[in-house]
Amino acid sequence: MKAMVLERRGGLLQERERPIPTPGPRQVLLKVEACGVCRTDLHLLDGDLPDIRYPIVPGHEIIGRVAGCGPDVTLAHGLRLGIPWLGYSCGECWFCMHGQENLCDQTLFTGYQVDGGFAEYTLADHRFCFPVSPDYDAAEAAPLMCAGLIGYRALNMCGNGVKRLGIYGFGAAAHIVAQVALWKSVELYAFTRPGDEGAKIFAHHMGATWVGDSNQLPDMLLDAAIIFAPAGELVPAALRAVRKGGVVVCGGIYMSDIPSFPYALLWGERQLRSVANLTRKDGERFLDLASKVAVHTHIERYPLHAANKALRDLKEGTLNGAAVLVMAGND
Ligand SMILES: [Zn+2]
Ligand SMILES: [Zn+2]
Repeated sequence: MKAMVLERRGGLLQERERPIPTPGPRQVLLKVEACGVCRTDLHLLDGDLPDIRYPIVPGHEIIGRVAGCGPDVTLAHGLRLGIPWLGYSCGECWFCMHGQENLCDQTLFTGYQVDGGFAEYTLADHRFCFPVSPDYDAAEAAPLMCAGLIGYRALNMCGNGVKRLGIYGFGAAAHIVAQVALWKSVELYAFTRPGDEGAKIFAHHMGATWVGDSNQLPDMLLDAAIIFAPAGELVPAALRAVRKGGVVVCGGIYMSDIPSFPYALLWGERQLRSVANLTRKDGERFLDLASKVAVHTHIERYPLHAANKALRDLKEGTLNGAAVLVMAGND
């Protein structure tokens, strides 16, 4: 099979020919149909994340079909599954026992510590896969597996009673959250990089009430804000934009350092928190909600061998929505 492999820190992905892997206990072999490209993959390439297992096949927004099962797994051949970022948690630690398997210390993450979906086939622990309706186009469903899920978890962390929601960084996650938020009659305030006209048009198109630069403030104070862009200076900017008691959620796995800011920005019971990974419960609830909302993803399709180009386009901000690698025969 063909796989795009990251062999060292700071490198580009290399196209490699590898044997199709054999599923072991609890594992399922998936023939990959499509795999989304996430900002986390950029941080992986840049070596921003600790403990990367080289060589690694990135990709954690995988849609595929069962092509083989481990000795103790009985899943129908051809069944469509989605593989998310959370590839394994221990099930026994304090976090796992308290509904926070996303924080387990034994986690293995797809495309980071175990090979992911930038390949024609991949293995996964079947207990961490989600059923995905065959009605979905595989490529359109792929961004739900991370951008959608993390966005959903971040939105939940904003608390109940949010009527005005700010979103900093209007990419793949934002455009999915926007649809869920609008469905819940939440007003959207989109903050984009100064000068990024494409993102502004996209945010308007997705139904934002207000669109402005990240250093601007709307006339109204917001109930909550989610920061998807990996820029630490957005933290004080977002705190400035929310009302007393409001919440600012940092949605990315990596962010540049947060500059110091006056305590007055946090005062008034404003809350600042991060969102880390996902639980399987998030996945079940979100996928259920996504079909109710009829979430529609805007994607740009790339062939597997063009993974480096997809990553570059994401980095340079030249695409609206999500980049998705589509395997030959599925386009
Ligand atoms: Zn991701
Ligand atoms: Zn655990």
